[in-house]
Amino acid sequence: MSLDDKDGKLLLEDETLRDGLQMESRIFSLHEKLQLFHWLKNAGLKRIQVGSFVHPKKVPQMADTDELIQTLGIQEDTVISALILNEKGLERALKCGVTHASMSVSVSDTHSRKNAGRPAAEALETMTRLIRDALDSGLNVRAGLQCVFGCVYEGKISEGAVLSAAEKMAQAGAKEINLSDTTGMATPYSVRNVVKSVNKEIPHIRISIHLHDTRGLGLANMFSGYEAGIRTFDVCTGGLGGCPFVRGAAGNVPTEDAVNMFESMGIKTGIDLKAICDTVAALEATLDRMLPGRMKRVQEYNETSK
Ligand SMILES: [Zn+2]
Repeated sequence: MSLDDKDGKLLLEDETLRDGLQMESRIFSLHEKLQLFHWLKNAGLKRIQVGSFVHPKKVPQMADTDELIQTLGIQEDTVISALILNEKGLERALKCGVTHASMSVSVSDTHSRKNAGRPAAEALETMTRLIRDALDSGLNVRAGLQCVFGCVYEGKISEGAVLSAAEKMAQAGAKEINLSDTTGMATPYSVRNVVKSVNKEIPHIRISIHLHDTRGLGLANMFSGYEAGIRTFDVCTGGLGGCPFVRGAAGNVPTEDAVNMFESMGIKTGIDLKAICDTVAALEATLDRMLPGRMKRVQEYNETSK
C-alpha cells in the first residue's frame, strides 16, 4: 500500500500510539505499545501512527519511538508511520528505518512558537526543506498543517495562510496533505470550505483530515469531510489524544465511533468494531478511567441486555 493510492476507499489512520498516548502521564512500556499495535492491526487498521520523534524531555511517552519501530520492523498490510517535527527527528527516523513519515507545521504563529519553538513562517521554510530531504532519502511523506481551522491563541486562521503553506509543501514533493483541527475549532462548514479550496488550488494532492472532538463536533466534521470527498481520516481508539501545547485540548474522533458511523451508513471501513471496543476496554483498565468514545458502552449495554 502506498500513501498516494487514490482508490476511493475509506481509510482510517489510527493515531492512538502517538496522539493518543502523548498526553498521558502514565508511561506505556515497549511491551504494552507492541500489544496495542497488534490489537489495532488485528482489528483491521491499515495505517497506524506509532510515535513521534520529539525530545524525550518534552514528551517522555514518545522516548522509545525508535525502538518501537525497530522492533515492529516491516508489517505486512499495515503502514507504520511516525511524526517528524524537526531536523533531529528526521535523523532519528532515517536511522530506525521507518518508511512513512508525517511531517507537520502549525499555521498559527503562536501555536508554532509554543509547539515548535519558532515562528510559523520559519517553521514552514525549514519543514519544506526537510520534506525534500526525507523524499530524497526514500521516505514516504505525508505533509501536515496544524491549527488549520482555528487557534485557541489567535482565533480564526486565514484561508490564504493555509493555502500558501499547503502549496509550498506540495511543491516540496508531498503527495498527501493532512489538514489538522488541532484545537477542535472546525465546523462542518469550515471543513467543507477549506477542503474545497485546497482541492481547487492543488487538485493533484490527496487530502486527509485530523479532527479533535473538543467541542463535540468531531463526527459531524468527519462526515462533512467525507461529503467533500475526503477518504482518509485520523482517529484514536477510545477518543484519546490532545496536544500538550493547546489549552483545553481534547481527544481525537474515537476510532470505534467513526467505524460505527461509516458502517451504519453502508460505507465499509474494514475494521472490526468489537475488536476496537475490546481494545478500548483494555485501555480504560490500564488508565483507570472511562474514555470519551461511545461505542464501547453501547456494545456493553447490548451484551448485558441480551
Ligand atoms: Zn492531534
